[in-house]
Amino acid sequence: MSAANTLPSDRSENIASARQGAVLEARALRKTFGSGAKALTILEEVNLSVQEGELVAIVGPSGSGKSTLLHLLAALDTPTSGTVYFAAKALETLSEEALAEFRNRSIGFVWQRHHLLPDFTAEENVAMPLLMRAAGRSEALRRADQWLEQVGLTSRRRHRAGELSGGEQQRVAIARALVNGPAVLLADEPTGDLDEQNAEAIFELMQRLHRTHRLTSILATHNSGLSHRCNRILGLEHGHLVPRDGQVAGRDTSGQRPTTAPARSEG
Ligand code: ADP
Ligand code: MG
Repeated sequence: MSAANTLPSDRSENIASARQGAVLEARALRKTFGSGAKALTILEEVNLSVQEGELVAIVGPSGSGKSTLLHLLAALDTPTSGTVYFAAKALETLSEEALAEFRNRSIGFVWQRHHLLPDFTAEENVAMPLLMRAAGRSEALRRADQWLEQVGLTSRRRHRAGELSGGEQQRVAIARALVNGPAVLLADEPTGDLDEQNAEAIFELMQRLHRTHRLTSILATHNSGLSHRCNRILGLEHGHLVPRDGQVAGRDTSGQRPTTAPARSEG
């Protein structure tokens, strides 16, 4: 990995490989857990098309399938039927190696509980996805420090993750999700464990990073105040995604509205 003066150094190649327009799509996604009499269908038929630059909120009560859906989009789990497309390529057609690359490079994932390694420092946690790609340790730590600066945690970079506050841990988790320059940021109730003030700060940080790094972001949230500040709100209802009112009218942060993407058909 060559040294980079600007952040994030990998994004251009990731984005270039993504088709203009829809970055991430889901068609007729179905997810059933268990089988026989115990089978539980959580997602019936989910259709989704997320355009480059969008900040989309997915809302729904606990148990409605938000996490299940994000895991399918991130290839952390496989659908019972239906297809997820990244840059117009069906994930099911990718080799194991290409899928691992997709998870590591194209998607940044932030969990409700940060999933940091508590005994490692903030910078080691952020560097982890780079080290998994066999990047050199000093270069990985250097880039981790750049991202910790982006999330306002330079002064805590040598602290063990377990010593940080909940809000700080979530900042580290966001830096870790972005260190590989992903095309898409998926965040699963990233503010769900935080008090109101910290939740607001984390959302503002995500909004700022979304803008400055021209991310495509999907945020699952309970918090209707936050969802109303996204470009689009989709509700998960009985296994279907349904457009909701209330998104910021007339605001287009996508920069470019695609003309070649297939018709959007949520719901
Ligand atoms: P949400 O994130 O909206 O709260 P989830 O996607 O976590 O909802 O869960 C939706 C439903 O799917 C829940 O009823 C949950 O118990 C069930 N579920 C999730 N994962 C599994 C699994 N691996 N096996 C069985 N049931 C699951
Ligand atoms: Mg969840």
